[in-house]
Amino acid sequence: MAKLQIRRVGDEVLRKTCRPVEEITPRTLTLLDDMVETMRAANGVGLAAPQVGILRRIVVIEVEEGKVIELINPKIIATAGTQEGAEGCLSIPGRSGIVKRPRHVTVRATNRQGETFEMSGSDLLARAFCHELDHLDGHLYIDRAERMLDEEE
Ligand code: ZN
Repeated sequence: MAKLQIRRVGDEVLRKTCRPVEEITPRTLTLLDDMVETMRAANGVGLAAPQVGILRRIVVIEVEEGKVIELINPKIIATAGTQEGAEGCLSIPGRSGIVKRPRHVTVRATNRQGETFEMSGSDLLARAFCHELDHLDGHLYIDRAERMLDEEE
């Protein structure tokens, strides 16, 4: 495994639309492993492939320690409710902002075995699904934030 360099806001790779993964290869699996290592080293709860310069629809999330969620070609298929809370991003260090998101989110994705699965999450996990999937279409939470918090602190 290798730790990858996290791209920061201003890097145009973060603003591009990612392509689907058409075939899961050993390189895909290595990328997943490296993304998990990179996320953990940065104390993050989620990381999307464009954040390490790869324009593919791949996301890793670890909201609960030890429970890594790997999503290949994820799509949000259902949402319910709303929540408003602080959000940050490994590509925008030292900042946070208030973002409104759905409280419950269901995603459909492919796992590393190539199988399709669905997963639902609430609260922080729902927020992580939305935040990380946004990255795959070039969106950052600062585009959606109602206000930033760092100026107030
Ligand atoms: Zn982010």
